[in-house]
Amino acid sequence: DNMVQLNGVTKTYGNGCHALLDINLEIKKKEFLFITGPSGSGKSTLLKLLYGEELPTQGEVIVNDYSVTNLRGDRLSLLRRRIGIVFQDYKLIPQRTVAENVTFVLQAQGYTRKEIHRRLEPTLKLVGLLSKADCFPDQLSGGEQQRVSIARAIVGTPPLILADEPTGNLDPDNSWQVMQILQKLNAFGATVIVTTHDEQLVRRCNRPIVQVRDGKLYRK
Ligand code: ADP
Ligand code: ADP
Repeated sequence: DNMVQLNGVTKTYGNGCHALLDINLEIKKKEFLFITGPSGSGKSTLLKLLYGEELPTQGEVIVNDYSVTNLRGDRLSLLRRRIGIVFQDYKLIPQRTVAENVTFVLQAQGYTRKEIHRRLEPTLKLVGLLSKADCFPDQLSGGEQQRVSIARAIVGTPPLILADEPTGNLDPDNSWQVMQILQKLNAFGATVIVTTHDEQLVRRCNRPIVQVRDGKLYRK
């Protein structure tokens, strides 16, 4: 069955910009999907619709059996807890250590200290940053910072991971490392959706691709 389903979705921004035009998309549970397309084609908008950051102008957005279109407040927060999000610019808190950056969302959600501790170590290990737990973000390379943001996204074991241009600020080696982590998470059972305009990286991963062009989707 589906993790994501878009039915006849159109997104027009307030300024009249048509980002997406009557699109349909089904993404199965445990799938790994690339969303490609030139800058400004609507990739971020598509992800924002999935985590409820933007509402569609028309059509229906269903994620993990919830109709995102109808969710407000608390129920939208609950859905977002089941989605791990990775951004191009990491969005780490500079005054907090790696460990604190990874665990503050769990703290905010009322996890016990014991449970937080139980989750932290394997998560940092998975992204190869166990030895950096007490470092601050500015002591890390860009690639390491992005791996912290992945750790933060996955520490609550969400079934859906969204990554919006996660390698946009990284060199090819670090980009490849990040893609390998995302593919490993998919092998563990997560549904993973990655937007990128890095054609070379996409080819190397050999995964299904949907291209956004002029507000429409094309399976490649
Ligand atoms: P991509 O992620 O592929 O670069 P976006 O989804 O960010 O594309 O943008 C798609 C189109 O929607 C672009 O033309 C962009 O200028 C426009 N857009 C994005 N966000 C907004 C917004 N908040 N207000 C108005 N237009 C927007
Ligand atoms: P709320 O219930 O107010 O939405 P959350 O506990 O969902 O609060 O998240 C708190 C903050 O952390 C929000 O600003 C949210 O954008 C951010 N956040 C939550 N989960 C993640 C994540 N997996 N990756 C990145 N940022 C996140």
